[in-house]
Amino acid sequence: MIAYFAKSDITCYVLRGSRGDLLIDTGLPQTWRAMQQWLRQFDVRWVLLTHAHADHDWNAARLQRMGAKLILSARDRDLRQHFLTQPVHPTAPQYRLRNAVQCVGGAVWRSPHYEPDIWLNEGDGGLLRTLGFDAEIIPLPGHTLGSVGVLHGRTLLCGDAFTMLWKRPDITPHAHDIAAMQDSLRRMLALNVTRLCCGHGLPVSMAQARPVIAEYLRSCEKP
Ligand SMILES: [Zn+2]
Repeated sequence: MIAYFAKSDITCYVLRGSRGDLLIDTGLPQTWRAMQQWLRQFDVRWVLLTHAHADHDWNAARLQRMGAKLILSARDRDLRQHFLTQPVHPTAPQYRLRNAVQCVGGAVWRSPHYEPDIWLNEGDGGLLRTLGFDAEIIPLPGHTLGSVGVLHGRTLLCGDAFTMLWKRPDITPHAHDIAAMQDSLRRMLALNVTRLCCGHGLPVSMAQARPVIAEYLRSCEKP
């Protein structure tokens, strides 16, 4: 079962497990109080960060102090609190200005430091099963090098590999490695999922997202 918490354009998810629950992403300072209240109904033992951007990992240190164990990809190790170690590029011309603003903001705006309890490496896709969750970790590099998603049944929780930020399915506006991001989009299309749960905005059906992804990939292939 998946539950979601959406506030200030940020969406975090809880996946229920057989030995406690998993929180996926942690929100911002301004979402903390309401999220903390929402989390009371769960027994969060684990927190998976889809990637180490501040709008996803801001409350990680707090949750760890409260007893949760943190999981993050080793490929985002140096990105924590240092946005510019993986500078982002606009994924389409209309995001150039937004991207420039993002780079300036990212440089000054740092989440509190934390040390993950588990560093994800290649081949760790089955980790969540060993922790009691009916889910698999799917590498979705591109937005950041360490970006991961969680596959649960026919739902993919995809972090910022795709977005519903503007209340419609769209390509994530920024990526560190655009070619890798495109490969991750191809992987998402091949997964046979029916729903995407993004890090921003509400869950969206794959039927709505698929044509947007396919059109973007087509436009990238044009000479
Ligand atoms: Zn991000």
